Amino acid sequence: MAWLDLTDKVAVVTGGGSGIGQGIAIGLADAGAMVAVLDRDEGSLHTVDDITSRGGQARFVRCDVTDDHSVAAAAGESLKALGPASILVNNAGALRAGSLDTLSMSDWQANLALNLTGYFSCAQAFGAQMLKKGTGAIVHIASVSAHFPQNHSGAYSPGKAAVAMLSQQLATEWGPRGVRSNVVCPGLIRTPMTQAIYDTPGVLEARRAMVPRGRIGEPKDIANAVVFLASDRADYITGAEIVVDGGFTRGIMNLIPRPGYDAK
Ligand code: NDP
Repeated sequence: MAWLDLTDKVAVVTGGGSGIGQGIAIGLADAGAMVAVLDRDEGSLHTVDDITSRGGQARFVRCDVTDDHSVAAAAGESLKALGPASILVNNAGALRAGSLDTLSMSDWQANLALNLTGYFSCAQAFGAQMLKKGTGAIVHIASVSAHFPQNHSGAYSPGKAAVAMLSQQLATEWGPRGVRSNVVCPGLIRTPMTQAIYDTPGVLEARRAMVPRGRIGEPKDIANAVVFLASDRADYITGAEIVVDGGFTRGIMNLIPRPGYDAK
């Protein structure tokens, strides 16, 4: 991890208590960062325990990212306990099913409040600490769904697409003030959010067969890309996106029936 050294940097990870966020929090701490693990409840303390048992430094900060008062309080608590943030990873999100013809307005708004407005709210609150110092890096966890619509997923894809643009606007507005902003788009990752899907017989094998890399992703796969983007090694990278999907979304041409051209 020396190449990606984050010693003395304060990193904030939203939704750090589970899945991809937990993997990212551990990855950042392994690279030397002091990590504020933001999540809704104390269930997330096990991320802090994991990090401290590996010799790292972390602190749980309760935060509901859909509530801007809670975000402001978390930014204050993290600042007081660890110092100004150098890194923010906007990760807390959820997939809620819903078909567009019947989706209620409250479901639409609840989804965007978490998957989009929460990202802006945290970028503004923790970004203020970075802008004051004149340096910082924000990484937003979007999804391959930002670019490929997935039916019956309500506002999830529109919200993730908007996150990709939010990141680009932050990059251009805040770049001259020393703050970078980038996106990581995960593909198929096994986490508590998706575990029920993988528990359905046959799904794991069927999904694996769609990924050129031959396996379903793990939180660590996403963490590796995030740690790089958060580090000074990515100093000239801003407004960019890294797709971390084992090649899954590159497979679209192979879905076309093409008699005579299939492998013999
Ligand atoms: P998990 O459900 O495993 O983890 C999400 C974490 O965010 C949980 O700890 C959850 O807490 C927390 N959270 C939810 N709502 C809030 C809130 N309002 N305030 C603070 N924390 C909150 O999900 P994943 O790790 O799978 O997903 C993480 C991110 O990755 C999401 O943005 C998701 O859209 C994205 N992603 C995931 C993919 C996958 O295949 N898993 C693929 C592409 C993108 P609680 O347990 O209390 O709900």
